[in-house]
Amino acid sequence: MSTDARQFRRGADGYEEARRATVWNGLVPDRYPDLIVQAHDVDDVVATVTGAHGPFSIVSGGHSWAASHLRDGGTLLDVSRLDQCVIDAERMSAVVGPGKVGSALAAELDKLGLFFPAGHCEGICLGGYLLQGGYGWNSKVVGPACESVIGIDVVTADGQRVYCDADENSDLFWAARGSGPGFFAVVTAFHLQLHPRPAVCGSCLYIYPVEVLDDVFTWARRISPEIDDRVELQIITSRNLPALGLEHPTIVVASPAFADTEAEAEAALSILSSCPAVDRAIVKIPYTTTDLAGWYGAVMSNYPTGHRYVADNMWTSASAEDLLPGIHRIIETMPPPPSHFLMYNWSPSPARDELFYGLEDEINMALYAVWPDPADDERYRDWPRDNMAAMAHLATGVGLADENLGRRPARFATDQNMARLDILRAKYDPEGLFNSWMGRL
Ligand SMILES: Cc1cc2nc3c(=O)[nH]c(=O)nc-3n(C[C@H](O)[C@H](O)[C@H](O)COP(=O)(O)OP(=O)(O)OC[C@H]3O[C@@H](n4cnc5c(N)ncnc54)[C@H](O)[C@@H]3O)c2cc1C
Repeated sequence: MSTDARQFRRGADGYEEARRATVWNGLVPDRYPDLIVQAHDVDDVVATVTGAHGPFSIVSGGHSWAASHLRDGGTLLDVSRLDQCVIDAERMSAVVGPGKVGSALAAELDKLGLFFPAGHCEGICLGGYLLQGGYGWNSKVVGPACESVIGIDVVTADGQRVYCDADENSDLFWAARGSGPGFFAVVTAFHLQLHPRPAVCGSCLYIYPVEVLDDVFTWARRISPEIDDRVELQIITSRNLPALGLEHPTIVVASPAFADTEAEAEAALSILSSCPAVDRAIVKIPYTTTDLAGWYGAVMSNYPTGHRYVADNMWTSASAEDLLPGIHRIIETMPPPPSHFLMYNWSPSPARDELFYGLEDEINMALYAVWPDPADDERYRDWPRDNMAAMAHLATGVGLADENLGRRPARFATDQNMARLDILRAKYDPEGLFNSWMGRL
């Protein structure tokens, strides 16, 4: 073990600080590992895995909404300090540690004219993000971020350092791309394929009063398959937007468009002015030039730090007619802001057979209950679960990015992929060292 590595036994000084530091969410679950180890290099990882007996969890950025890494008993390995990042601009590749922050990588690449589909919020680490799939900027074009992972370095349950890619240890490579908290080895580095940075990031913004909800969602569902892949339609509904002086529930329709020219971006976004309720929009900006930094700032206003969060979600291709009763219920029962309901459109691909990744579908609906006061825990924490459970008959499955599996077990991969993953887990982790998802169907 390196001299920098630190270990905290339950009850010892510094333990609670170390445990809380692994959770981004202000809602820190009452689950207590026996031992927390803060690794500083791969040798620390090997030493910790080799010496571990009980259930074993790993944390990178701690942005799992459910704090999936916090379990009772056993060992928690914190790899957030493995945040190395080596970019090879000429080969358009990078090798990054699991503790590397995705938004920081995006900013570094931006300066080099390069791009990687990092997540939509600041602070998310690549460890958990890439393992669960990674719905990132421009992912409708370049695919979920795990599709841009070309190799990984892992430490397996028997303490071996192993490199995996499409040719070497390809079964582990398959499992690592999409299984999230169900992966059964420690990732110490990701080898990434980078992309050219799109020249332009144009945007549009429309804000509608909730009274035209049926029009907006029926339209959004209808145009969903026609939307240019460079457009990420995001529809956010919340009870009010005090920052804009709006006191009534509103529906925000916004999208970036990544393109080669302003004209292309503007043309791609023009479909979003076709809503039949467009004349009722309180705010109407059909096109403006933006950048990724601006988008990060806007998105983060929905996710203030220190607040308590519970999320849940579903993939679906159901019609607006079928979805609307559930959408009405979501909005009628929604906690105060910044709680919100996000709907985004997606481009599912039938050809993603080289990875475990999910039950993606035409749209994703995600609910975020957000509140500052612990006294409101009981009041708000079940809002995402109850509403998603009520619509489960319309769902293809859930995305692991916003999973709530401990409180609502659900499907998130095909039966075939689940069966294959279980076989691989038995092969690579025969003693069942690693913890897995908190729930599954
Ligand atoms: C504010 C916010 C915004 C978000 N926005 C997006 C978004 O735009 N797109 C998106 O796809 N997701 C998004 N997410 C979800 C986020 O990507 C996932 O929760 C992801 O797991 C976070 O990565 P992490 O390393 O910070 O998480 P962690 O909580 O550290 O990791 C999650 C799980 O992954 C496993 N794990 C982590 N690191 C390793 C490792 N090195 N080796 C083996 N297993 C490991 C563990 O089982 C762990 O419990 C968002 C989350 C938050 C809180």
